[in-house]
Amino acid sequence: MHAPPCLSIAIAGAGLVGRLLAWRLSLAGHRVTLCERDSFARSTSAAHTAAAMISPLSEVVVSERKIYDMGMASLKLWPQWLEALNLLQQPPVVYAAQGSILVAHPQDASELLQFYQDLSAQLGTDNTARWLDRREIAQLEPDLSAQFTQGLYLPDEGHLDNRQLLTNLLAAAQKLGARCLEQAAIEFQPKPYCSKLDLSKFDWLVDCRGFGAKPSQENLRGVRGEVLWVETSEVRLNRPIRLMHPRYKLYIVPKPQHRFIIGATEIESEDRSPMSLRSMLELGSALYTLNPAFAEARILELDANLRPAFWDNLPQIDATINSRGQGILSINGLYRHGFLLAPCMIEEALTHFTSCPTPDDNN
Ligand SMILES: Cc1cc2nc3c(=O)[nH]c(=O)nc-3n(C[C@H](O)[C@H](O)[C@H](O)COP(=O)(O)OP(=O)(O)OC[C@H]3O[C@@H](n4cnc5c(N)ncnc54)[C@H](O)[C@@H]3O)c2cc1C
Repeated sequence: MHAPPCLSIAIAGAGLVGRLLAWRLSLAGHRVTLCERDSFARSTSAAHTAAAMISPLSEVVVSERKIYDMGMASLKLWPQWLEALNLLQQPPVVYAAQGSILVAHPQDASELLQFYQDLSAQLGTDNTARWLDRREIAQLEPDLSAQFTQGLYLPDEGHLDNRQLLTNLLAAAQKLGARCLEQAAIEFQPKPYCSKLDLSKFDWLVDCRGFGAKPSQENLRGVRGEVLWVETSEVRLNRPIRLMHPRYKLYIVPKPQHRFIIGATEIESEDRSPMSLRSMLELGSALYTLNPAFAEARILELDANLRPAFWDNLPQIDATINSRGQGILSINGLYRHGFLLAPCMIEEALTHFTSCPTPDDNN
C-alpha cells in the first residue's frame, strides 16, 4: 500500500478556519504555509471577536436543520481535538459543555414559549430543551437574578476560549513544521498572488479569508456583530446565558479570568466602525439586569466585526483546478456558526488532500 503523498499547501487567512486547517494538515504530515494579511498577535479575524458558543439548539431556531446536524457532530469532535491540541500546546484551551440557559423578564415570558415551540417544530423528538423553575435556575446558576422565575435549559451546548484557541493552534502548527507568515496577503483574482511567496510552487492553495474573500466571491456578505468584554470577580456564571427580549436577543458567555463577553443579535451591515453608544448602553443594561453586581464590572473592550455569509447563510467548500494544475479550495460562509461548524467543515475539507489535485476536484 502507498503512503499518502506529502503535499505542499498554502493557506490564505489565519482566522478560525485557516488555523484549524493548518494544524490538522500539519498533523497529517503535509508541508503547510499559513499566510495572514494582518498580524498574528493583533488578529482582526471574526474568530478573535466571537463569543465562541457551540450552540446547535439555539441556532436551529434561526437556521436549517443541516446546521444542527453538523453542530451536533462538531460538539463531539471539539473535545477530542482539544485534547490532542492541549498535548501539544499549553495553557490548555478552556472548553465547557454544560449546556446553556435561556431566560426572559416576566413581561417577555412569551419569548421563551415561542422559542420552545420553534425548537419543537424544527427538531420534533430531538428537542432536548427542558423548562426550569426559579429553584432549578438558582441551582444551576446561583448568581443569576432571582427575578427569573422560568427558564429553558439547553443541554447539548458548549463554549470555548476562542482567543487561547487561536494562539494555541498557531503555536501547534508551527511546532509541527508549518511556516507561518504575517503581513502576507494572498489575492486570488485575477490570479493567485502574494508579495512574500511564490505561489506557483504549491500543490494546493486554500482560501480561508472569511470576509476578506469578498473581492473574488461576489455572493459573500458581511454581517455585523458587536460585543462588549467586561471583568468582575463579583459574579460567577458557569455557562452561556441568553436573555430573550422582543427587540433583541442577548447572550453572555463566561470566559477565563473572571471575564465575560456580551453580544446582541446581528445587524445586516458591512460597517466595521466601532460600536454605537446605543448598543453599548443596551448591552450594559442587560448585564445589569442579569445581576446588579455587574454594575462594578470593568469594561475591557468594545469590538465589532463581520461574519462572512453567503446569501443562504450556509457554509460552502468549493474545489477547482487552475490553469497551472494547482488545486484551489475555498472554505467560507461560516456566518454565525464558525465554532459550531468548524470541525465538521475541516473534516470534509481534509478529504480533498489525499492526493495531488485531479480533474475530479473541478466541481
Ligand atoms: C460578534 C461575533 C460573535 C460570534 N459568535 C460566534 C459564536 O458564538 N459561535 C460561533 O460558532 N460563531 C460565532 N461567530 C462567527 C465566527 O466567528 C465566524 O463564523 C468564523 O470566525 C469564520 O471563520 P473564518 O476563518 O472563515 O473567518 P475569520 O475568523 O474572519 O478569519 C479570516 C482571516 O483571514 C484573514 N484575511 C483576510 N483577507 C486576507 C488575505 N487577502 N490574505 C491573507 N489573509 C487574509 C483575516 O485577517 C482573518 O485573520 C461570531 C462572529 C462575530 C463577529
